[in-house]
Amino acid sequence: TPDIRRHMERLAAEGVDVVRVVYPDLIGTDRARDVLLDHLPSACEHGLAFCRAVYHTTPQGDVVPVAGGLDAGLPDVSVRPDLSTAAVLPWEPGVATCLGEVTDPATSAPAPESPRDLLRTVLARCAEQGLRPVVGPELEYFLLEPAPETPTGWRRAPETTGAVYTAGLRADPGNHLLRTLRALRDLGLGVVTGNHEFDGGQYEINLTHSSALDAADRAFRFKAAVKELARKEGNLATFMAKPFGDAGGSGFHLHLSCEDTEGRNAFDDPSGAYGLSATARHAIAGILAHAPALAALANPTVNSYKRFGPDTLAPWLIDWGLDNRSAMVRIPPERGSGARLELRLGDASANPYLLIAGTIAAALLGVQAGEEPEAPLEGYGYDTARSALLPTSLSAALDALEADTALTDILGKDFTTSFLTYKRDEVKRFGRHVTDWEFTEYAYHL
Ligand code: GLU
Ligand code: MG
Ligand code: MG
Repeated sequence: TPDIRRHMERLAAEGVDVVRVVYPDLIGTDRARDVLLDHLPSACEHGLAFCRAVYHTTPQGDVVPVAGGLDAGLPDVSVRPDLSTAAVLPWEPGVATCLGEVTDPATSAPAPESPRDLLRTVLARCAEQGLRPVVGPELEYFLLEPAPETPTGWRRAPETTGAVYTAGLRADPGNHLLRTLRALRDLGLGVVTGNHEFDGGQYEINLTHSSALDAADRAFRFKAAVKELARKEGNLATFMAKPFGDAGGSGFHLHLSCEDTEGRNAFDDPSGAYGLSATARHAIAGILAHAPALAALANPTVNSYKRFGPDTLAPWLIDWGLDNRSAMVRIPPERGSGARLELRLGDASANPYLLIAGTIAAALLGVQAGEEPEAPLEGYGYDTARSALLPTSLSAALDALEADTALTDILGKDFTTSFLTYKRDEVKRFGRHVTDWEFTEYAYHL
């Protein structure tokens, strides 16, 4: 078609001869096939075949039996390049990446476990209410460098400090942040600022806000790009929630507002309580009400629950506050077009599509229920008498997700089943693993 030809000409003019077609799997890993430019028209017409069970292959190489995967004989999913998303990789001459649309070849419908399509489904529900969610992602991560003497083979880069929060250049002697920020800008990811975080080797980069699917796409590509850039330098960028016992965790804060059909910020209302509209307050109430289930998507690993706690700036209780960083939902001070909430629940290991879809679904349920949130938290507070605790384990969060049928009705049965099966298998595998801590704690003294 003329459209494909136009994209091909543009890519060829930029010296591209390989297009890496990428899609997010269930856990948010980037799955890719490299396609020679000449083969691109055929890939666009027929789709690229990927083994569907790949969705459910764990990083350890175990294949988790999920409906439609292993038990169906490892059938294909078909992935069609969306060339309108093609972006030339600044650090890999001749290569562009683009996102792929994942369909079931038998039906040509979106694969039910495709996180991107799940988000589309949730956004369609919002559109029925005349709401268009706007999302700004903030991601933290640790940069690690090889250290053969350590048990994991990695240490923080830099390991020690002058590295306090927003310490500036002295915390990043290797200029990792500057290089990364510029490369991500050149890739077109809409990054705006970066800073050194609280712990040695921990960084945060903020992405500008945009419509929810675009923001999810950018957050997904951001994680892959940061990892790729670090790997090129022999390092490892990790988005796991809590990689070290003696350092803080990595958050994936989400800024959320909504545009109404006239493009106005539907969260703003100078005459409403707290300067927020009823829609905003209902959205907050919805997020609080569905937080235990949402945690399964926002905090999707067994490691995630070690990030939570008082005095960590990661949440621990299900609460909200006005410009209060000790609360799970923070309302930043801006109003008008900047009126929004910041959900501080998610950690960096979350699949951006699922975190964003789950958050918006919970907010939407709140809007539909029309309930007001309890009064906001006052001061720096961890009041367990007042607010419920977040789930303390992945297993508890998965049970909460399964029990939250209002939320899973929006997410869909196929997705929920696949996600619960995959994640419960993860819990089971971890439960069987004997850790160093257990040996030290028990081997000598008991
Ligand atoms: N690292 C904290 C977290 O895990 C957030 C720190 C901050 O407020 O930037 O969420
Ligand atoms: Mg931060
Ligand atoms: Mg933040």
